[in-house]
Amino acid sequence: MKRAVLLRFMVILLLALVVSSAFSYYFIGKNMLQHDMSAMLNTIHAVDYALDYSGNLQEQVEKLHAEAMDASSRITVISSDGTVAADSEVDQVDSMENHLERDEVREAFETGTGSDTRSSESVGESMLYVAARSSNGSYVVRMAIPYTNILDYMISIFPVLLLGTGIAFVVSVILASRFASTITTPLKEISAEMGKVHGARTEFSFKQYKYKELNVIAETTVKMAGEIQAHVEQLEKERKIRQEFFSNASHELKTPITSVRGYAELLDQGFIQDEATKKDFYARILRETDNMTNLINDILMISRLEAKEAEVTFSTVRIGPLLTDVFESLEPIAADYQVMLHKECSPVSIEASAKQMRELIMNLVSNGIKYNHPGGNVWVEVWSENGRLHIRVRDDGCGISKEDQERIFERFYRVDKGRSKKMGGTGLGLSIVKHIVEYYNGSILLESEPGKGSCFTVELPFKKRM
Ligand code: ADP
Repeated sequence: MKRAVLLRFMVILLLALVVSSAFSYYFIGKNMLQHDMSAMLNTIHAVDYALDYSGNLQEQVEKLHAEAMDASSRITVISSDGTVAADSEVDQVDSMENHLERDEVREAFETGTGSDTRSSESVGESMLYVAARSSNGSYVVRMAIPYTNILDYMISIFPVLLLGTGIAFVVSVILASRFASTITTPLKEISAEMGKVHGARTEFSFKQYKYKELNVIAETTVKMAGEIQAHVEQLEKERKIRQEFFSNASHELKTPITSVRGYAELLDQGFIQDEATKKDFYARILRETDNMTNLINDILMISRLEAKEAEVTFSTVRIGPLLTDVFESLEPIAADYQVMLHKECSPVSIEASAKQMRELIMNLVSNGIKYNHPGGNVWVEVWSENGRLHIRVRDDGCGISKEDQERIFERFYRVDKGRSKKMGGTGLGLSIVKHIVEYYNGSILLESEPGKGSCFTVELPFKKRM
């Protein structure tokens, strides 16, 4: 990457240097030409000052040229009618053609000064001409030096420019290389650190870098790795729970199946003659199959809730009539256990699944009956408060100890396994209740004291947030 960055940088740099050199090259050349022209003008003024226009001009010009001027330069004096009055390079000025049409001469007569570059007809060389009107106004003094074009100047400054460009290039490449390193080195270090990741390892040691963007990469990596690990842990936890659930469920089913099989075998072999015992065995078989049905229904209910089933049908559930219905269903068992049921219900309704609401209330009330004593009571209160539906199921039954309170919502957890089973309990009722409450983003609170009774308070928002 560093090489690629550097290479690109070098190309850009070279381009910039070439463009900037070309510009300076051109402007320096132009400046030098300007400078030369003004020096020539000074010389012309000096010559003009030194000339005695009433004397022999040719002689004076030759003398001045020989004594004070460079051999390659040329001085010409032209009178106002265009005839050449004197020339440092030509002896027979009379033979020279009229100079009035020469651009620099015409310009000088018109404006005071003039200049031109062209090939000289008299000398046959490419020249730069600068001319100025004489102080007395009747002549033009012209100076010429050999000159092809602006390149003449450029050639002289080329080596200097080349050296400058070269130095600038080398220094810039060194600096650019260092600059590229400040970016590529951290990137290399970061990717090396990321390359160390194996499995769920999230121990990174990133340095603090000069550039904020690089630190962002490091921070995001740490954050992402953390999230991935949390996700993996969550999946692992869920997998364990599911596995445990399946092994518990099959264990729970095995017991009734074994006893059903035992009773059936005994009956089948014809050992039992006593009609009363036979009847008892049949009754046991029926109870065990009921237990199995309950268990399977509860297992199905839990797995549906866990899968957050989409096909839950929502409707406006009126809690009052629902409670009456639940009480009617449970009345026979309540009578059996000699437990009184009481309800106090505000006319409230909730957007929910009627089936789930029935299951929730049914489980809590039937627990209140099952874990009670003859002469006990179960009270159900329903009201609306703070925009939430409140359902409170209270009993004066056996109560639950502090340690058990923390665990009774777990699947298959029963305080008194024998008693629960005898009453057709599956150990899944409260777990289902908790799942339903969570499904509606509600909450459940348990207050209980052994020997005094228990109180479950459920709070649900009236509309489920999706
Ligand atoms: P089960 O099918 O055994 O009733 P639950 O999940 O409904 O399963 O309840 C778990 C355990 O919590 C029960 O076995 C029982 O020991 C205890 N429990 C539940 N409700 C009450 C209650 N109202 N009073 C006393 N104990 C209760």
